Amino acid sequence: MIVVDTFAAVRAETGSVPSALVPTMGFLHEGHLSLVEVATEVSDRVVMSLFVNPLQFDEAGDLDRYPRDLERDAALAESAGIDVLFAPSAEEMYPIDPATRVTVAGVSSGMEGAHRSGHFDGVATVVAKLFAGIRPAFAIFGRKDAQQLAVVRRMARDLSFPVEIIGSPTVRETDGLALSSRNVFLGEEDRSVALGLSGGLFAAAEAARGGERDGAALEGLVRDAVTAAGADLEYATLADAFTAEPIGTVDREVFLAVAARVGAVRLIDNVVLW
Ligand code: AMP
Repeated sequence: MIVVDTFAAVRAETGSVPSALVPTMGFLHEGHLSLVEVATEVSDRVVMSLFVNPLQFDEAGDLDRYPRDLERDAALAESAGIDVLFAPSAEEMYPIDPATRVTVAGVSSGMEGAHRSGHFDGVATVVAKLFAGIRPAFAIFGRKDAQQLAVVRRMARDLSFPVEIIGSPTVRETDGLALSSRNVFLGEEDRSVALGLSGGLFAAAEAARGGERDGAALEGLVRDAVTAAGADLEYATLADAFTAEPIGTVDREVFLAVAARVGAVRLIDNVVLW
């Protein structure tokens, strides 16, 4: 594995080989590594980007607190089979404040978009820059961030990026908690509160398997579980898997998404229902 910090160096390493890109903000866990596994299946030149993107943080404190450990990440990336680890500085990514921002209308407006002002503009802008600067043939994103996946798919299509976007399933702890870099901030008590999110989603998935199609009923199961566990619910929303538009009935491929605060830690999770 080679660690580089410029777009030019990534392109020099990938050459004309169709590469697979795994974009991350680092502090790697098994969820990230599962994306690498998918990447190695589709390409023999795997690039991981590691960049805590200031543009997608709506709270300055959250950006400052975001966990970082490049040395640990480099060791994990190397053992996972990454060929090129791209860890740019903020100056490489944004030599000047970008006057051009990518807004993906509609897909970005509900759920995370409604609760985190400017978040998806930041995500779409940095991912567009990664696609333009690295020119991967494939890019792997986690379904853990289901709305983000929908935003990126739509952005790549609208802007004609010649990249195939691949969604990969959510990796969980054995107790159901979705892996997240932010879990490091959960104390022992917080963890049981956090299980309200996955517990509610599993209860709703079970109900859907039993024939429940009504969005309000499914959202209610999540809301009740999250609240009963002691977390502060932000939303529980059933949405179209591709447009991320909130919908009232399970009548196509959908995801049921939840966001809640456990103390100071904001967590999101979702299940695909269909
Ligand atoms: P992040 O570093 O949190 O920006 O995440 C980088 C990529 O890893 C995104 O595509 C996420 O959706 C994905 N990811 C994060 N957590 C998980 C997880 N538990 N399972 C699968 N993918 C994940």
